[in-house]
Amino acid sequence: MKTFPLCIGTPDGLQFDGEAERIFCRSITGDLEILAGHCNFCTALGMGRAYVALPDGTRREAACIGGMLSVMNGNCRVLATTWEWVEDIDAQRAREAKERAEKAIATGGLTEQEYKIAEARLKRALVRLGVKE
Ligand code: ATP
Repeated sequence: MKTFPLCIGTPDGLQFDGEAERIFCRSITGDLEILAGHCNFCTALGMGRAYVALPDGTRREAACIGGMLSVMNGNCRVLATTWEWVEDIDAQRAREAKERAEKAIATGGLTEQEYKIAEARLKRALVRLGVKE
């Protein structure tokens, strides 16, 4: 299968720089997959499971929490708010974050802003757990 140059970065640094056969992730309008030969394109990313299919036939799973993806002249670049490879996800931490967020939502008395923050924390934890399990 044809490959294309892929670069994935976050504020913490470069997460991937190499050739890929495919990248799958969640955009704000739904799941998307980029293959070699994709036209020039740019989209905002949502929160969800992601993976990179490598030329050796393996697949690296990850959690992607927002950002931007672009394709320019065959080069794909992902600038993610958070990109965690499955092996780096701490499931216990995500479970605790989920419990804290659920408790805050169930207890109530939150301002609209606090509710949105708790809901976003819950979503991030669920994405991490979904990738991990
Ligand atoms: P927590 O309440 O556990 O901090 P959070 O969703 O609020 O979770 P973020 O603000 O999204 O955390 O992330 C802060 C940093 O911690 C990022 O670098 C992110 O990659 C990392 N991080 C958060 N949760 C996990 C996890 N479960 N496993 C590995 N890294 C994590």
